Amino acid sequence: MLRIEKKVIDQIKKQGEEGYPFEICGFLIGEIDYSNSTRTVFEAFQVENKNKERANDRFEIDPKDYLKAEEYAENKGLTIVGIYHTHPDHPDRPSQTDLRFAQPDMSYIILSVKNGKADNWRSWELKGDSFEEEDVEII
Ligand SMILES: [Zn+2]
Repeated sequence: MLRIEKKVIDQIKKQGEEGYPFEICGFLIGEIDYSNSTRTVFEAFQVENKNKERANDRFEIDPKDYLKAEEYAENKGLTIVGIYHTHPDHPDRPSQTDLRFAQPDMSYIILSVKNGKADNWRSWELKGDSFEEEDVEII
């Protein structure tokens, strides 16, 4: 399951609205408790969406930004626990492309942004070869 600070969700919503009508993306920074598979998020680390041609319905992260986020997390004694991105004018469900790039043991927050306003969001995790919605607790 995912535990996330409310201020982080608010931040992601703000970024999503500011980035509309394009997809914005970033890393969820926090810690993982492997004993009960719980990921706790303390920070959202936004990175540039490298996909310029289809930024309205695709996102792509530069490997350099991945390293930057990893370094940022490590310096705080934390780790990358997931990735967030927005779906402008689309539901908060993962797309086929999202599935193709998904990795296990990570949380994938998808926020739907409708007409420029943050709407529903959910968190997903890879189970076998498909996504399952995961339980979320706001802390
Ligand atoms: Zn997506």
